[in-house]
Amino acid sequence: MTHLLQTHAHLDHVAGLPFVRDVFPQVPIFLHSLDKVNYEEAFSRAKSYGMYFPRQLPKDNIIDIKNESELTVGETRVKIYHTPGHGTLFTFLVFKFES
Ligand SMILES: [Zn+2]
Repeated sequence: MTHLLQTHAHLDHVAGLPFVRDVFPQVPIFLHSLDKVNYEEAFSRAKSYGMYFPRQLPKDNIIDIKNESELTVGETRVKIYHTPGHGTLFTFLVFKFES
């Protein structure tokens, strides 16, 4: 695993990250820069819903992405589009496979 691409920081998308980082401690997490506040508050918000998480979300090696950011995953180009809808900071990923 080389990249963790977060479409958004809702709890169901970030709760497993501490466990993934146990296995892949250096893998970077790519997250929309404006979604960081939701990421940082995900577990405290969960407590308000009566959910408790014994782990902390990773705080290191988090890479900001923005609308129309591009990155390379192996031989695949990925372009990021900010697409509010499901969440205000939801991002859509377009994978361009090149042979
Ligand atoms: Zn969601």
